[in-house]
Amino acid sequence: MLDARVVIVGTGPGGATFADAVTRAGWDCIILEKGRNHLLELEPPFAPKGDFSNDEIKFVYRHFLGPDPLLEPRTFRRDHNDGDRLFSGEVNNLPSTVGGGGVHADGKLPRFREVDFRLHSELGPIESSTIDDWPITYDDLEPYYAEVERSIGVAGDADANPFASWRSGPYPMPPGADMFGATLSAAAAERRGLHPYRAPTGANSVAYDGRPACNNCGFCGMYGCPIHAKGDPIALLRRALLTGRCELRPESHVVDVTLDGSRRSATGVRYLDSGGVSHEVRSEYVVLACGAFETPRLLLSCDVANSSGLVGHNLMFHFQTLTVGGFSVPLFGSRGRSVTHLHDDHIVPTSLDLTAAREAGLPYFRGGIVEHGAAAAPIMEAKTYSPGSGHNVSMRRSDLRDRLWVFTMQGEDLPQSSNRVDLDPSVRDVFGRPSGRVTYLPHDHEVAASRHFAKTLEEVMLDAGAEWSFSTTSPPVGEITALDRHNPLGLAPASRHVMGTCRMGDDPRSSVVNRESRFHDVDNLLCADSSVFVTSAGYGPTLTLAALSLRAAYLLTGDTRPPTTPAG
Ligand SMILES: Cc1cc2nc3c(=O)[nH]c(=O)nc-3n(C[C@H](O)[C@H](O)[C@H](O)COP(=O)(O)OP(=O)(O)OC[C@H]3O[C@@H](n4cnc5c(N)ncnc54)[C@H](O)[C@@H]3O)c2cc1C
Ligand code: SF4
Repeated sequence: MLDARVVIVGTGPGGATFADAVTRAGWDCIILEKGRNHLLELEPPFAPKGDFSNDEIKFVYRHFLGPDPLLEPRTFRRDHNDGDRLFSGEVNNLPSTVGGGGVHADGKLPRFREVDFRLHSELGPIESSTIDDWPITYDDLEPYYAEVERSIGVAGDADANPFASWRSGPYPMPPGADMFGATLSAAAAERRGLHPYRAPTGANSVAYDGRPACNNCGFCGMYGCPIHAKGDPIALLRRALLTGRCELRPESHVVDVTLDGSRRSATGVRYLDSGGVSHEVRSEYVVLACGAFETPRLLLSCDVANSSGLVGHNLMFHFQTLTVGGFSVPLFGSRGRSVTHLHDDHIVPTSLDLTAAREAGLPYFRGGIVEHGAAAAPIMEAKTYSPGSGHNVSMRRSDLRDRLWVFTMQGEDLPQSSNRVDLDPSVRDVFGRPSGRVTYLPHDHEVAASRHFAKTLEEVMLDAGAEWSFSTTSPPVGEITALDRHNPLGLAPASRHVMGTCRMGDDPRSSVVNRESRFHDVDNLLCADSSVFVTSAGYGPTLTLAALSLRAAYLLTGDTRPPTTPAG
């Protein structure tokens, strides 16, 4: 006797998209989420719970959306020379809560470009990287991109970005209001010949889908939205629940994917409830949407679907270049969404960029999307000033918040087999499960691209009116300093974009899931998160992982979408 046709593990953008699609196709599903529920009531009409507020202590320091790194530590090392680990604690954590990282993100939702799916064929290999083509193309994904933009609610201007891939239609909403600082930095970028544009964002610019327009409260990235102007993933989860065919169980920590005797077919999952009591759910299909860190951790801990030995390998984060500028005038970065403008120019290298790449010993390099954004929150700022009588003066003047502006380049991170998630040999979480461990060192590609493009970003920052500018990276590069040893957490990448740990491909010897996101080893087990990415591109992963999840769900239920063509 089955409990549901589909069981989905994880309620982030990937799991929520899958649940929305299968329930619309008439299938029933149970979604299990290990975190607590602060998002929506679990009885009809599934109204927002109203638990979110503009409260930095609650969200940033008290881990309101989880996970608490003391209870669920991850560990980090750069390579085996660091021993078993450099430290244990917070490593690129995404929230563990109903809605996952979608609740927390400020939701810049660009699409990948055509070339991003064919990097090996179009630009070629790079030594010591496992660059490959995806088994699907941009054209295969376009109908699903268009549909998730409508179901999440993305505000953007389809004609604004000259580097954007083709689209079958416009965004469902126009872009929202500009941040003042972004108007200065975008104008300077244009003077430099770059092509800034208003960021496609999953926050309503007008009332949409029964939710209000964003009021630009300023507490966006790292915070739940108090008015639910952000649609991802509350819109999808609510729609799935409203069908009456979806049951959501928070505080249900999946510890096992159960298999039949052949080990080629999943029978369901086993989970622990908040009291530590074990339950089993039996289903026809199991969908893993735990995020690209927790999905391989779960598979490795129950030894499932890893005949290739590749589960956890090819881990990618974006390599972040952070160019900071100090202004004499306030930029009011505390108002508005966290980022309102982007530019893509450094993803599409010019002949000058290619010359620089060759000088660095590489056939080419690519940077990533550049976010024009504000800097710190009030308490983060307060911690940077010395205590004493000058503190209030410093806070009022706000040199390190209101007068700062930041470019964040999400640099393409090449896949490398040695970068991976595995199980720490001795650290465990509060449930007794082995902690996930990251082994990660950036490739020379990322470091060289960052050095090269940082110079342009600093020049643009100064032209925008900054009195000074400098650049740094996450993770830091070079020797470990005394400061790093004092605060080793800063050595881990901080992008919150995690990808690649169950890569997609046609050959079971060199990939983990097939082009339909099903595991090669276990046919009724699917993956609906960014674990399946083959390369990282230089764009935020969330829209692409949601489009892939939607495509996988439709292929499963037989509800596929016809191919699309460019609009107009
Ligand atoms: C501050 C911030 C800003 C961001 N900004 C952007 C942005 O602008 N653009 C962009 O593209 N991306 C952004 N991101 C990243 C984005 O949040 C992630 O790409 C996205 O959330 C990943 O979705 P997912 O569904 O794959 O996984 P997640 O959102 O991580 O959801 C996975 C869920 O699974 C649950 N889970 C895990 N293991 C288990 C288990 N064993 N049992 C039960 N449940 C489990 C987790 O608790 C979690 O709720 C940002 C992230 C943060 C934190
Ligand atoms: S800036 Fe807008 S979308 Fe972001 S949390 Fe505030 S109201 Fe919500």
